[in-house]
Amino acid sequence: MAAIPIKIVSPPATEIRRVVGEWTGDRNGPTLIVVGSIHGNEPSGRLALARASEFVDRKAGELKGRVLFLTGNVRASTLGVRFVDTDLNRHWTRENILRNSAASAESHASEDQEQSELLQSIGESLRTAVDEIFVLDLHSTSAGGAPFATVGDTMRNRRFAMKFPVTLLLGIEEQLEGTLLEFLNNEGAVTLGFEAGQHDDPASADNHEALVMLALVYSGVLEKADLPDFEVLAKRLRSAMPRHQIIEVRHREAITAGQGFEMRPGFANFDPVRKGQILASDLSGDIASPETGIIMMPLYQKKGEDGFFIARKVAPFWLHLSALLRRFDAARLMHLLPGVSEVPGHPEQLRVDTRIARFFPLQIFHLLGFRRLRWSNEFLLVSRRRFDTVSPFAAKGH
Ligand SMILES: [Zn+2]
Repeated sequence: MAAIPIKIVSPPATEIRRVVGEWTGDRNGPTLIVVGSIHGNEPSGRLALARASEFVDRKAGELKGRVLFLTGNVRASTLGVRFVDTDLNRHWTRENILRNSAASAESHASEDQEQSELLQSIGESLRTAVDEIFVLDLHSTSAGGAPFATVGDTMRNRRFAMKFPVTLLLGIEEQLEGTLLEFLNNEGAVTLGFEAGQHDDPASADNHEALVMLALVYSGVLEKADLPDFEVLAKRLRSAMPRHQIIEVRHREAITAGQGFEMRPGFANFDPVRKGQILASDLSGDIASPETGIIMMPLYQKKGEDGFFIARKVAPFWLHLSALLRRFDAARLMHLLPGVSEVPGHPEQLRVDTRIARFFPLQIFHLLGFRRLRWSNEFLLVSRRRFDTVSPFAAKGH
């Protein structure tokens, strides 16, 4: 008897897709977009999206809006590296976006191609939205420590973020140029970043999954009653975070590839540090903390432009005060102050002469919802965040 030939089929390599899932219930309702793994060495985001997709599939008939789950950097995720040619989460500058929006965009880097594809998917959602758009960006860190959310400081972002039982880190968007969420903020979306824990810790994917599930409810795409595990998921996030506080970035240690930056071992997110404490070293010697506070995102991997951040707690008083000032739109009066002038051709910008307006100029403009653009010896240039209190999308539909 002839032997039956056995065909050996190797299992197909799991293909990482750009669109993890896309669902439309009520097309006039809100939109929730979640991007996972915009850094390819942070798998927990896309793993969580794959899991959450199964749930959304089952609820597809009950959606009061639209849901879009995307892999951020497909090519880098396939290789398991942060990026292929350049950091995709520092790539959303006006110049790159213009170039990569064109139908015949020419790719200079792998991340140009990634950006073109993301712009297509997200752009379609932005163009067709008639209600609020919420965007989550899922990250993890090389260091351990409790998870936290990162919030670009607009009132709309704050309001959304404060629904989640998580620690909020304000002000990071001012330190980083070209992030996806800063671009989408300026397009009018409500955004929230989330650092779920260490890159390969299974708990990071659990935390991301819980966040995404809660976001389905907090964005208004599902009712709380549609999510039977609501309390369990909220508890999971809450218990991953011993501290439910609001903190702000005070310092970013900017580094370059050739600098030989190396963190001292043993630091985790939220560890307290003192002014002058040695945190890292590079080719020119020791690097000390410029102030007392807590360390965030110490870098324990080769790729990255941020060595560490120093943050500190924000007293609730300042949050209330800034909410009040923004409600009264105090920003529109600021150009009347001595040392403050408008910038011709840029109605959203103000130039502050810091020889005249000397005391805490940046803090004051932060309270009013401005973002720092540049700070030289004599001048501070700040820009008002667009859509701080009012949504461009909700206005279209209602
Ligand atoms: Zn990341």
